[in-house]
This record gives sequence, structure tokens and C-alpha cells, in this order.
Amino acid sequence: MGYTSRKINEDSWLIQCDSHVSMYLIEGKEKALLVDAGMEKENLAEYCRTLMDRPVFCVLTHGHYDHIGRCGEFAVVYLDLKDRDLYDQHRSRPFLQQSDPCCKATDELLEMKKEYDLGDHRIISVPLPGHTPGSVVLCDMKQHAVFCGDAIGSGCGVLMTAGLGSLPLNEYAAGLSQAIDELERLGVDDDWQFYGGHYGQHHASRVGDPNLPCLQMMKDMRILCEEMEAGTATIRESIKELPFGKAKETIGIHGCAELQLLTDL
Ligand SMILES: [Zn+2]
Ligand SMILES: [Zn+2]
Repeated sequence: MGYTSRKINEDSWLIQCDSHVSMYLIEGKEKALLVDAGMEKENLAEYCRTLMDRPVFCVLTHGHYDHIGRCGEFAVVYLDLKDRDLYDQHRSRPFLQQSDPCCKATDELLEMKKEYDLGDHRIISVPLPGHTPGSVVLCDMKQHAVFCGDAIGSGCGVLMTAGLGSLPLNEYAAGLSQAIDELERLGVDDDWQFYGGHYGQHHASRVGDPNLPCLQMMKDMRILCEEMEAGTATIRESIKELPFGKAKETIGIHGCAELQLLTDL
């Protein structure tokens, strides 16, 4: 299939690929910002040029392999450098290498900026540590859109596992509190559209179909973390066979928030 895309608003495209990763290209008057870089076989920079002709720079929502694979095709790449170690581990993962030997991340990462100016667009990054230490959400102040990567999941629950660098639940709860405050200060409300880092997952939700990310999901997630910490959450536990061995899976639900916690046995 390669890449497919569709406009999600006047200035932005959703780019999808075989590995079910969602990327977003936001076109400003002077330049364009690409949210995440997937892990596909096909050249992503060339694909972006088929959509528009502005210079493109890349901002990574976090350092996981499925979001960084082709960022080396862009001259300027930003990441919250709290994810730098994770990025370095994941860029050399065998399945990223197998995906395409040319699929290469870059050595030259720049520290995440607070604000990106695209000419007529301001994009503001807000830290939301939890899924990874350096996870961020990106707010498009013109189009009232929030690109949230994997920070609150893409509809069927945020994945939290120490094996992929996730933080303890109490730190995620604190990150959510700060991020909600900051987003509300920026004017984000229930009318803003949230766009996750994967597609199709919102139909696999346990609480609604579709269950799309939103501001309320962040608020419910904060409560869910606190309830799971206190042992009062509605949870379901099972043992999962995963490629790297068996793990205990705990699913917690509160309101529209879902959280999948994987812990070693
Ligand atoms: Zn992901
Ligand atoms: Zn991730």
C-alpha cells in the first residue's frame, strides 16, 4: 500500500502507512511541520513533496521505533531529549532495520522547542511524560488541533510498560495534571480535535466505538492512574504471550480512558 493521505483540515494531512502509524503534515505559509516519521519502506520526504512544496522539518512526539524510522530524511528533527536514550535503543531495533535497510533515523537531533512558527501557524509543544519520559503533544493554535502521538493512546488505551521506557503511574498522573493545566491555559477545550499516533485502534476500544482521544480522555486518565495506584480501579488482568516472553497485562478503565499496563512476571 505504501502511504495514503487525506486532508483533516484546510492546512493538514493525515498520512497513514502499512504499519498502522499515523503521521501528520501541517503546512504553513513558509514551511511545513511533519509530526512523526513512521517506519515504512517508502521514502517519506518524497511523499511529503507530492502533497505540497514547502520545506519540511520533523517533530517527533516520542522516541519509539514506530515513530522515528524515516526521520533521517529530514534536515531538521526535534525530539524531547529526555527520550534520547530510548531513541538510540530503538533506532537499531531489528524490526526497524528489517523494515528497510535505508530506514534510518538521524544522529543530529535538536531539543524540542516550546513553539514552532510556520509563518501563519503557531504550533506549541506541551510535555506529557508517561508513555515515555519525553512524550509531548503538539497544539496547532490556528486549526485547534492537538497531535498526541501515543501519549494518551489512539482510542483503545495508552500502553504503559517499563520495557518500552514508560514511567510509573504516579509520574504519568503528575504529567497529565501539568499537561491538562497547560492545554487549558492555551485555550484547548472539548471542541478541539485530537489526533493519535495510530489509526484503526479507536474501533478496538473497550468503552466505545469509536473512542477517539480528547481532552476529557486526559482528565479521565489522570483519575484512572490514581485509582490504579490506590487499587480501586476497575481492572481486568490476564497473562499475555508476547514476542519477548510472558507478561502480566492489567487493563484499567475510567470514563473514556483506557490504560494497558504490562509488567514482567
Ligand atoms: Zn506508537
Ligand atoms: Zn509509543
